[in-house]
Amino acid sequence: MFSSTKAGHLAHILATSLLGQVAGNELVPPDPDKIEQYGHLIIQALARWLGDPVLRLTGRPIITECYRSPERQEELYKQGRSKPGPIVTYKRGGESKHNKLPTPALDVAFILPDGEVSWSGLLLSKFARLMKAADARVRWGGDWPGFKDRPHFEV
Ligand SMILES: [Zn+2]
Repeated sequence: MFSSTKAGHLAHILATSLLGQVAGNELVPPDPDKIEQYGHLIIQALARWLGDPVLRLTGRPIITECYRSPERQEELYKQGRSKPGPIVTYKRGGESKHNKLPTPALDVAFILPDGEVSWSGLLLSKFARLMKAADARVRWGGDWPGFKDRPHFEV
């Protein structure tokens, strides 16, 4: 395990390196300060992913969101209800783990080799296995009964 200071430092580098990628896709980049508590999990899972000769060719995991304001949560809740688009959440503003500080929740997507952003269920389930191997306390939204929130992880 990393020391907490080192994990925080590495998480900062990791989160900062992701900012440019997510900004271009209108995703909300993670706040480097909020990511510190589970940065070491991401780094372990990412290292295993990139160390696997098959997985590394399929795409690269990115973090798309960590903390989310209650106002933004409420906007997401409207999607698929009073606003167009698919339903992406069943939590109203303030109800999501993403609304807590420090936030225990993060969402993951993948940058494919062609540069596209993907939420492939297959890739997310493979990444979930690595996250759970990094720490058994990790909860994956894809394991939830009912609505499967595959991009979602909680610690
Ligand atoms: Zn989430």
